[in-house]
Amino acid sequence: MSKTALVLGAGGFIGGHLVKRLKREGFWVRGVDLKFNEYAETQADDFVIGDLRDPYVVRQVIDRRFDEVYQLAADMGGAGYIFTGENDADIMHNSATINLNVADACHKRTIKRVFYSSSACMYPAYNQEDPDNPNCAEDSAYPAAPDSEYGWEKLFSERLFLAYNRNHGMQARVARYHNIFGPEGTWSGGKEKAPAALCRKVAETASNGTIQVWGDGLQTRSFLHVDECLEGTTRLLRSDFEGPVNIGSEEMVTINQLAHVIIDISGKSINLENIPGPTGVRGRNSDNRLIQEKLGWAPSQTLRAGLETTYEWIERQVRRNDARKVA
Ligand code: NAD
Repeated sequence: MSKTALVLGAGGFIGGHLVKRLKREGFWVRGVDLKFNEYAETQADDFVIGDLRDPYVVRQVIDRRFDEVYQLAADMGGAGYIFTGENDADIMHNSATINLNVADACHKRTIKRVFYSSSACMYPAYNQEDPDNPNCAEDSAYPAAPDSEYGWEKLFSERLFLAYNRNHGMQARVARYHNIFGPEGTWSGGKEKAPAALCRKVAETASNGTIQVWGDGLQTRSFLHVDECLEGTTRLLRSDFEGPVNIGSEEMVTINQLAHVIIDISGKSINLENIPGPTGVRGRNSDNRLIQEKLGWAPSQTLRAGLETTYEWIERQVRRNDARKVA
């Protein structure tokens, strides 16, 4: 009999890719989300449209002892959603409720292997003020001081799953994702992240034009391609190490550098205009020493290689949209 997996948030970016990966590995997969994935037909054997804030829905979808549960569902978005302050109550309430429901329902079904996707946004803001030397080592999490309510909720839920490990013998695994990107992710509408937003702007702009970049563009980040993220995710869930551990790239760039790589890929000549906008912390980079030590693995794909396939996909979406507008 094939192994079974449950992907919560399967209609989302990472969840959609994860379903495909688990199907390739031969799993029977159930996906759950508020919505279907906008960009690709789901490959899940069973896809439930449901609201995981409702404990009754959660108990219904966790109706068997899944071999693997991936809890990716969250109320999230890019800087334009997380850092304005306007969505704080929703972000905290919605995501915490989902996690409380899921942890308890998995415990009641004596499910052991539960993966939880935390975020680098839980790291203290005071360690991320120097764009050249941010500190995101796992043990730098405390004293806690995330720069957003999104980060605080992630920290709470990390602790929630690890408490179920200690008190109920669960074997939850916690990863702190750092800026995951790739094809088939949100690229417009306000919840898109920097790589997708910049790919869209470049794709929409004619050569010799200008694109706007939030902040002075000197804030630093690293970005990890979704395929590498899932390699780390499945390795962690199937390992003896509970985490929390970073899953991210150590190839740190400024946001302006990120824009220049994308412009270079497009083959166009485009200028940058830095404008005020929500930016988050000054610097952030993954620290991969712990994952390397515990799993003997760390991501290695270059940023440029990942951006090439992402730009190609977003450019296709932009062209398709333009064609629709004309028709
Ligand atoms: P996403 O927004 O594409 O996917 C999350 C999914 O959760 C969405 O499809 C959404 O509809 C679903 N969801 C939200 N509320 C729900 C509810 N009440 N019931 C059912 N489904 C609900 O995000 P993603 O980029 O795929 O991220 C997946 C996970 O990884 C999230 O927990 C996110 O916080 C975490 N993470 C992502 C990144 C990144 O860069 N993408 C970085 C750090 C952490």
